Amino acid sequence: MEEKFDVIVIGGGVIGCAAAYFLSANTSFNGSVLVVEPDPTHTHASSTLSASSLRTQFSNSLNIKISQYGYDFISHFHDLMSVNGDRPFLKFHEGGYLFLAKSDLQVEIMRQNNSVQLANNADVVLWSTSELANAFPHVNVTDIKLASYGKSGEGWFDNVGFLNGFKRKAQDLGAKFLKDEVVGFNKNKKVIESINLKSGKKICSGHFVNATGARAAKIAAYAGIDVPVAPRKRTVFVFDCENSPQGSASVNNGSLPLMVDNTGVYCRPEGSY
Ligand SMILES: Cc1cc2nc3c(=O)[nH]c(=O)nc-3n(C[C@H](O)[C@H](O)[C@H](O)COP(=O)(O)OP(=O)(O)OC[C@H]3O[C@@H](n4cnc5c(N)ncnc54)[C@H](O)[C@@H]3O)c2cc1C
Repeated sequence: MEEKFDVIVIGGGVIGCAAAYFLSANTSFNGSVLVVEPDPTHTHASSTLSASSLRTQFSNSLNIKISQYGYDFISHFHDLMSVNGDRPFLKFHEGGYLFLAKSDLQVEIMRQNNSVQLANNADVVLWSTSELANAFPHVNVTDIKLASYGKSGEGWFDNVGFLNGFKRKAQDLGAKFLKDEVVGFNKNKKVIESINLKSGKKICSGHFVNATGARAAKIAAYAGIDVPVAPRKRTVFVFDCENSPQGSASVNNGSLPLMVDNTGVYCRPEGSY
């Protein structure tokens, strides 16, 4: 007899694991869930390569509200994902984001964004050059006209713990995980009825979640759907700082923020290596 699940989640990164968790934890959903993931070590998954930072400094209300929901969820993550008394703490580091504006246009956009953020109760503040220099004395402020800082609700956390927390809880709630790769769909007229796996197996379902992240276009193409998503390489460097300015700030107990300069380059403290 062919194997059958009510929902098949394709991809076991953080989105796939979260989808499996939210489905399994939903008391009005009684179905079975399967997550198919070819690489449980997640070597190339965005989830484990991510900077795993959360901010409320966005330009639109929806993104701000998503982040506020995320912050609240992460604050309770260890209780929500508790399995047999094991509570996964994400070590959320509430360092805040600091955005720097140099040109008049950047200043104008920063002010517009700030009013949207304040309207959504984000805990953010705009600083003049002298206020910035006072808060973070290590920053060379000579060409900075305005700065935007998140006083709370922003920071970074353990991305691997985030993924594993969702996965473990989803499994505890009954979701199944399979190490395999989806290589195609089988359709009956226009309706997708099953997936083909690299191992040669075929598994049936009525609902499929495409959670393959940057590789989503390939899965969508199997279903005849064009999704305009393509993977792009990003590079993150880790370096030691001989004389770290960590501790020198006059705000947030001396902690340095995740600082984004006017070109989009960012840096944040990680401790020492
Ligand atoms: C360098 C970097 C920094 C980032 N920083 C941040 C940040 O600070 N804050 C933030 O919010 N976001 C950040 N992101 C984005 C964030 O990490 C991603 O949006 C998120 O991790 C996407 O999760 P995902 O589960 O959709 O994708 P992924 O984690 O990529 O998971 C997709 C999974 O699908 C699997 N898969 C692929 N093909 C198949 C197939 N055919 N069959 C079955 N499975 C398949 C893959 O093996 C993979 O495990 C960053 C991303 C990167 C790369």
